[in-house]
Amino acid sequence: MLGATGSIGLSTLDVIARHPERYAVFALTAFSRVAELAGLCLRHRPAFAVVADAAAAALLQAQLADAGLATRVLVGEAGLAEVAAHPEVDAVMAAIVGAAGLTPTLAAVEAGKKVLLANKEALVMSGALFMQAVRRSGAQLLPIDSEHNAIFQCLPVDYSRGLGAVGVRRILLTASGGPFRETPLAQLDAVTPEQACAHPNWSMGRKISVDSASMMNKGLELIEACWLFDAPPSRVEVVVHPQSVIHSLVDYIDGSVLAQLGNPDMRTPIAHALAWPERIDSGVAPLDLFAIARLDFQAPDEQRFPCLRLARLAAEQGGTAPAMLNAANEVAVQAFLERRIRFPEIARIIDHVLSAEAVLPVEQLACVFEADRRARVRAEHWLNRRA
Ligand code: NAD
Ligand code: MG
Repeated sequence: MLGATGSIGLSTLDVIARHPERYAVFALTAFSRVAELAGLCLRHRPAFAVVADAAAAALLQAQLADAGLATRVLVGEAGLAEVAAHPEVDAVMAAIVGAAGLTPTLAAVEAGKKVLLANKEALVMSGALFMQAVRRSGAQLLPIDSEHNAIFQCLPVDYSRGLGAVGVRRILLTASGGPFRETPLAQLDAVTPEQACAHPNWSMGRKISVDSASMMNKGLELIEACWLFDAPPSRVEVVVHPQSVIHSLVDYIDGSVLAQLGNPDMRTPIAHALAWPERIDSGVAPLDLFAIARLDFQAPDEQRFPCLRLARLAAEQGGTAPAMLNAANEVAVQAFLERRIRFPEIARIIDHVLSAEAVLPVEQLACVFEADRRARVRAEHWLNRRA
């Protein structure tokens, strides 16, 4: 469990706890929330726990020893990579948020694990190399992002032969439109982090909540879908669906359109990927269609949500463009959460970084990290100039 204390981490532990005969937790990781991680260790008794630094590790090790637990505490990126690739591990939930998840997620991929991918930023950054590593190692990559999990469920098992070969015309990626779908444009300048994080349908971590409000989340998901399903960006269409009941659709050449529906609760895709190809109880209530009564659809508004246009552009450019888009977005979202910038400036920072930095081919992972670094420097520079 990479990112055990997060929103996806806790939902995953909830599903796992329902099936003690099937699953045992081998390792739990967190960045800094030592007390929360200690609580999770007491409950799930992992062999390993990983935290960011030596001080947090010492604190955690002392708390676990007091409780009589033999859990070993490891530190930092090396610790994350060690547990992700450990021979006793079958499956890795990659649920760290942002670029910080790339190295440990890749370690799990390279070790040939069953990788449950929530950390979309890792795939967005390193797409081609990530998918090459999956093929080389024989890792089984299963999408946790609800849309991609839905698409996976709507595709035939042999979709890796190519979408054209299995008769797929388009992937229809649904989006709720977030909390600002109908906010008057003039008011977007004044929206707060609290408003941005108050998602109408989903309860999630703060970074992805802001991404949902800007629709950068859908932009990242567009890129994620292109890599997971080997689709050109032109085959992926974004459909705004405010109820978040249909989690995405696949449109076939014979006119059939398959959709996956469910209550908006991440325990459904998590349980699906954990048990695949079997099905297990996730704790999610059955869908009540009569209570939902109607499903609405709209085209996305790229004027209101320029991040979507920027992400599509990065997807089309390829190379280091998606890594730079992601890095600039991470800096911009953090600045917005810290109230250093206004909401519409998130897109402006990303636009600035993408127009100022050259897009380069990605031959090795070092190119990705270098593009990430340069984009962050450029975004910070924009922030400092503004201040
Ligand atoms: P979160 O902020 O709630 O949790 C993030 C987790 O990552 C925490 O356990 C934290 O300790 C850990 N972490 C953060 N920075 C770290 C670092 N530098 N090093 C090591 N660990 C670090 O986030 P979340 O909402 O659970 O999202 C996790 C991932 O799943 C994101 O990539 C997000 O896009 C994706 N995702 C989330 C949802 C959702 O419903 N929350 C849905 C789809 C996809
Ligand atoms: Mg999603």
